[in-house]
Amino acid sequence: MKRALAIDVGGTKIYSAIVNVNGEIISDVEKTPTPKNYEDIISTFKSIISKHENEVDVIAFSTCGAVNNENTRILGSTGNIAGQYPATNFLELSKKPVFLENDANCAAWAEYKIGASKDCRHSIMLTLGTGVGGGIIVDGKLLKGKNGAAGEMHFKLRTDKHRKCTCGAWDCFEIYCSGTGLKLTAAEMSQNPKITTYDVIGGVELKDELMMKIFNRWQDDILAGIIGLANIFDPDVVVLSGSMAQFVDTHYLTKMVNEEIVTTPTRVVKAEAGNYSGMIGAALLAFDKYGV
Ligand SMILES: [Zn+2]
Repeated sequence: MKRALAIDVGGTKIYSAIVNVNGEIISDVEKTPTPKNYEDIISTFKSIISKHENEVDVIAFSTCGAVNNENTRILGSTGNIAGQYPATNFLELSKKPVFLENDANCAAWAEYKIGASKDCRHSIMLTLGTGVGGGIIVDGKLLKGKNGAAGEMHFKLRTDKHRKCTCGAWDCFEIYCSGTGLKLTAAEMSQNPKITTYDVIGGVELKDELMMKIFNRWQDDILAGIIGLANIFDPDVVVLSGSMAQFVDTHYLTKMVNEEIVTTPTRVVKAEAGNYSGMIGAALLAFDKYGV
């Protein structure tokens, strides 16, 4: 059976593992902190690849940053990783075929192939973590846009320049609906700049009135975004993944979304492909692309 060496590159950690064509991880998952320095990132890649390249048919990267439509390079800014990282020549890293795709797109693909949106040809995935990632699948294909950068969850939730987003614009979905967004909403509503997301989640468990109000505001911001996305894409399902997704009430969201949309009924569900869905999705996309 064909195998891919999958490498997941994030701002803080680099994971790697071998994945088969069924989307199963068949090796230990290796984990290393993402080096701050660009040269060290490249040497980390080289050492992972040289260790495993003879055991696999393809190298599949799931990476932060938008990836071009040829799946060969990163298009632009990637946030919290070394500034030169987008210049990486991935194809030169191995004598085997090298593939790369944006991490949220990879995760959305893993959900479509083996997870919560399996067999659903129209789906949207939102990764609710420190930021918000997005992957959109239309008629069984990843929506990539003209250059490959589509699916970024930076659309406005309000227009009064209330909160600056990490992308530099004002009031994006991301800056309200990420973990960072929950913290900012909590700080505003509690007048306590030091409040954390843990305080809110812990308070909700204890049925603290203010913490529940803060949490519900955050969840209703997520709801607002999902309603817009559902009206635009008419998805079978909206999948929520990432560290913050576990706290969300998907039954509530499903009910409220379906009360407001003008398109056909949809579902909001939690991701099922696991913590390594980025690596699994990258591997499955790479097998498709290279026909291996
Ligand atoms: Zn933004």
